Amino acid sequence: MTKITPQPGIMEIALYQGGAAHVEGVSDVVKLSSNENPFGPSPTTAEALRRAGHDLHRYPGTDHASLRNALAEVYGLEADNIICGVGSDEVLQFIAQSFAGPGDEVIYTEHGFSMYPLLAHACGATPVKVEETDRVVDVDKILAACTDKTRIVFIANPANPTGTMIPMAACKCLAEGLPEGVILVLDGAYAEFVDGYDGGAGMVESRDNVIMTRTFSKIYGLGGLRVGWGYAPKEIIDVLNRVRQPFNLNNLQLQMAEAALRDRAYTDKCRAENARMRAWLAEALEGHGVPSDPSSTNFLLARFADEKEANAADAYLKSQGLIVRKVAGYGLPHCLRITIGDEPSCRRVAHAIGQFKGGAA
Ligand SMILES: *Cc1c(COP(=O)(O)O)cnc(C)c1O
Repeated sequence: MTKITPQPGIMEIALYQGGAAHVEGVSDVVKLSSNENPFGPSPTTAEALRRAGHDLHRYPGTDHASLRNALAEVYGLEADNIICGVGSDEVLQFIAQSFAGPGDEVIYTEHGFSMYPLLAHACGATPVKVEETDRVVDVDKILAACTDKTRIVFIANPANPTGTMIPMAACKCLAEGLPEGVILVLDGAYAEFVDGYDGGAGMVESRDNVIMTRTFSKIYGLGGLRVGWGYAPKEIIDVLNRVRQPFNLNNLQLQMAEAALRDRAYTDKCRAENARMRAWLAEALEGHGVPSDPSSTNFLLARFADEKEANAADAYLKSQGLIVRKVAGYGLPHCLRITIGDEPSCRRVAHAIGQFKGGAA
């Protein structure tokens, strides 16, 4: 047998499953499985793409100064405390790689984002799953699970795939209560969907053990572009920048992300439209006997009677060209995660679920 063996933990990694995009034999499908913005990115990104296309013989800058300054300006942050990555996934990877290794523990929660255990395994650390309470992150349970091996706690706030959120006061208790030397990562992929929420940026500025991550993949409608960023104390940014490849982001990514960021009117419109259709869809599903927790995101976690009914609903939606996300892998076999689409898509979902529950299926 070969003596070539991977590092510890690597073979524990189950490959990430992206949301499906096609249904065999059905045209006119709507993809509601990856929490994408149904309206796509700001139209200003098209012009940025054309401009950046002229520059492709040039290496990109290594410090992302222009994008970081734009982020600092728009969100009222310190540019020096920002790091940009290939999606926020890459920033999360920098964090795991820099601060955890074999023998260390990385905490995530019961229905937490599947990237967290994957990243822990990738750096040889041990992922530790902590229970939630009724699909909401539970600070006391996380604190109780900390040991002297704990290095990182990952939570998304608001969370995926539950859509629930904990108040900033609870995040503060968590950061405050962690043993010394443990980093709290607040993944703010959905922060822009919450009016007036800073994603934890203020906590980053007032403490030394909090990192916030953000993305262009959700409200900015640029999941295909792969740009995210992190906000952290200077000492941590300095560490993360050492594992970051100097040219991790290309000219197209940098310029398009900045264009999207500066179109505030477009983002505001997307936030308002998402909130409007989310309320409408939640009520429509509830009316059909399918409840969901109050969502702070661009999706609903629809709850069915049991796994069998959720699977049947998924199959029926598929037959109607509606692709949603099964979340059994997240410990939620009786649920389906449904991205808030545009109004016609939401109406199609409500109609199909009504037919399904009415026995038409
Ligand atoms: C979608 C999502 C991300 C974003 O990942 P990118 O790499 O930025 O596309 C991060 N965390 C959570 C919880 C998400 O749902």
